[in-house]
Amino acid sequence: ATPMSIMVSVGRAAQMGVLIKNGEALQLASKVTCVVLDKTGTITQGKPSVTDVMIISKSGATSEVDDKDLALQQLFTRVASLERYSEHPLASAVLEEAKVRELVLFEPESFTNVQGKGILGVVDGCSLAVGNRSLMQNEGVSGLDRFDAEISQFSAQAKTPVYIAENGQLSMIIAVTDPIKADAKAAMTALLQSGKRVVLLSGDNIRTAKAVATQVGIKEVIAEVLPEQKQAHIIALQAEGEVVAMVGDGINDAPALVSADVGIAMGDGTQVAIESADLTFLSGRLSVLADTFSLARVSMRNIK
Ligand code: ADP
Ligand code: MG
Repeated sequence: ATPMSIMVSVGRAAQMGVLIKNGEALQLASKVTCVVLDKTGTITQGKPSVTDVMIISKSGATSEVDDKDLALQQLFTRVASLERYSEHPLASAVLEEAKVRELVLFEPESFTNVQGKGILGVVDGCSLAVGNRSLMQNEGVSGLDRFDAEISQFSAQAKTPVYIAENGQLSMIIAVTDPIKADAKAAMTALLQSGKRVVLLSGDNIRTAKAVATQVGIKEVIAEVLPEQKQAHIIALQAEGEVVAMVGDGINDAPALVSADVGIAMGDGTQVAIESADLTFLSGRLSVLADTFSLARVSMRNIK
């Protein structure tokens, strides 16, 4: 039988916009020692936009070109035409930028998603690779090191660099930024003050992930994690003796949400994440995290 105090707590949580699946989830929430958070869509708003577009000429030199530059518009059109078939938040940033530039997109001749790395395809007769450094390495694209200064600058500003290779040649680098949620820093401070270990888990590159972590006061960062590895990191933390809560929003986060002692989905996240979670934060606000754990603790104390 469900004790009265659990029902009361579940009701109180609902008033804060927190849906708790069952009494067991509440009980586990009272014991959480470590909170792991996904970056994109969890710490950040999940509404990324393009901030910089850097075209790379054949000679390898970058040029400061204005928006009307033909080569840039042509290449950006091809990239956006391919991104139309990706479900990654970065793709929506590229498509938004294409709309602003009033580009007319093509139908790609082929499209492949490379999990956790980017996309490949043929557009307008050109073979394209769009994604992170690891994708470029997979595709044998050379000359990545020459742009380390620019890339470092993007990463330090918490921007994600997106590399574009056309027919195997590095041709463009785009920087994308996703604003941090307004309440993220206060929410992380509250968690840390309540004695929780807080970890940022991201598929993004380490420098960008660290820049985001620093802005919200998180010291422990696990980055460049492939989707299927997220779950393994949760299990590793549990093996260290932690009772782990995982907060995520994407399809990629679902296995990690299931493995965590308490899976928490953002209400504005994907349906798969919500179905995999024990708790759902309807508002997408992180500020209720610490309150939820203390509510769970108080209600368990009342049962004993
Ligand atoms: P995250 O949700 O943390 O960004 P993902 O595993 O979804 O993690 O993606 C890892 C990385 O792969 C991204 O940070 C990005 O660099 C690259 N990537 C994935 N999909 C795309 C895409 N459609 N366009 C460009 N880059 C992509
Ligand atoms: Mg994500």
